[in-house]
Parts: sequence; C-alpha cells; structure tokens
Amino acid sequence: MRIVLLGAPGSGKGTQSQRLVERLGIPQISTGDLLRAAVARGTELGRQAKEAMDSGRLVDDSLVLGMIRERLGEPDTRKGFILDGFPRNLAQAHALDHLLEAVKQPLDAVVQLEVDYGELVKRIAGRRTCADCGRVFNLMTSPPAGANVSCPKTGQPHRLVQRPDDNEATVAERLRVYDEKTRPLVDFYRARGMLRAIDAEGDVDTVTRRLMQALGVRVPKTRRPVRKSAAKKAVRRTKTPAKRVRAKTPKQRRPSAPAKRRAKAPAKRARARRR
Ligand code: ADP
Repeated sequence: MRIVLLGAPGSGKGTQSQRLVERLGIPQISTGDLLRAAVARGTELGRQAKEAMDSGRLVDDSLVLGMIRERLGEPDTRKGFILDGFPRNLAQAHALDHLLEAVKQPLDAVVQLEVDYGELVKRIAGRRTCADCGRVFNLMTSPPAGANVSCPKTGQPHRLVQRPDDNEATVAERLRVYDEKTRPLVDFYRARGMLRAIDAEGDVDTVTRRLMQALGVRVPKTRRPVRKSAAKKAVRRTKTPAKRVRAKTPKQRRPSAPAKRRAKAPAKRARARRR
C-alpha cells in the first residue's frame, strides 16, 4: 500500500505512521525525521534546512524532493510506504505524482487527520520524543507510563526530549504555513477521488482503528478473554487427570462429526437387525 498521511503539525501523523508500520509492515517516510537526522549529522543538506526548520517555514522543495527521490529508490519501499509530512505543498504533490507515475506505482490513499486548532496547540506543547528510538509520546495524552517503558534501543527508560521547533512562536508559524501551503492539498486529492478524512481526536487506539477502516484494512479481531476463561473452566470442571489432558478447550471436548456418526452407527445397525 502506498499511503500519504495529511494533517497539521500535531495531528498525529508520526504516531499513527508508527502504528501502521507495525500493522502493515511497510516503512514510514517522514521528511521531518529525515531532515532532523541530516541536521543532527551536520550534513550540507542539514545545514541548508536548519534555518527554515527553526523558524517554522518549509524547507526548499529542491532539497526535500532530492531527499524523497533517494528514499523512494530504496528497496524496502517496493512493497509500499507511508509518507508522513510529504507532500506539503502543491509543487511537491505534483512532483510526487510524476515520480510515482514513472515507476507505475500510484498512491492508493491519502488520509487526512482532522484535529481542532486548540487541540493541536495543546498536543504540540506536550509532545516528547525518545532521543534514542524516536518513539513519540505526549505528556498529557500518552505518557510513557505502564509496564512497557524501556527503550528498545538502549533497554533503559526512554530519554524524552522536546523538539526545538515545538516552541510557541514556531508552532504558530507552522500552523499558519500549514493553512496556507498544505491545506490546499486536501482539495487536490479530493478532486482526484483519493481523499479519506478521519476524525483524529480521541485516544490513539481509537484513531488507529478509524485510520485502518479508512484504508480498508481488516482489523484483526483480538481473542475474546471470555473464550480463555471458558477453556480454563472446562478444564477445571473435568474430574480425572486423564480427562483433564483431553479436555483442553470446549471445542475439543465436542465430538467431531465422524465421531458422532460412529457413535450412532451401533444403534442404526441394531435397528436394521430388528427390521
Ligand atoms: P510537523 O508536522 O509537526 O510540523 P515535521 O517533523 O513533519 O513536523 O516537520 C518539521 C519541519 O521540517 C517543518 O516545520 C519544515 O520546516 C520541515 N519539513 C518537513 N517536511 C517538509 C516538506 N515536505 N517540505 C518542506 N519542509 C519540510
């Protein structure tokens, strides 16, 4: 599947992309992450991108497109990809079209994540990222609490940092830039019949479910706990240890159709003999 996630800063594109990576087994391509990595490595690209990023403006199309072209040329994208944060203006959307047309791999869906302005500002203020594994948390809505808190990269607790562009002044500019440059993509993709909009407010799992539905991906049913306890009870109800071994689940305790036929057979034969 080739997917674009469209939405304002803070709408949850990154968080939901990470979920899709796990469920669909295709890579996430986040231009924001790629640019931040270039800045951290101190490459020429990073040096050129940094000023625009720090002030909340868009990085030059030529830089971003070069980066995307290279990334989409990597073999792991052949089975599909999730574009997160790209395209971000009409020129980028047209360039993406041409790029994918050339390799005959058009987009399958563009999903717009809809979130209220006030909620976006709140989310961005609470957003923290693990400096080691890159997982996104939110101090308000999804803190790294619970049993599974250690970072898969270090085995230590996640090292949470705030993105330098998640400060008040830059956030206001990023939201303005989104309205001016990126929002027109909603109409662009709607006109092509590709847009699917979802309500991206609510807890993360709910939004993931809506996203999967919008993509037409069947959400695997989780095993109902009642089944498990029924199986346990069935084992407990049996009396002898020998029976316990046999009666593992209620399903297994039910005789199979051939067994039923075998059980009825003597009665049938007896009836036949009587006739
Ligand atoms: P957010 O969606 O929260 O604004 P991102 O991580 O997607 O954050 O992007 C961070 C910054 O990187 C943007 O504000 C912008 O400066 C730059 N950037 C990311 N993607 C693009 C893009 N496709 N085109 C231009 N600039 C980009």
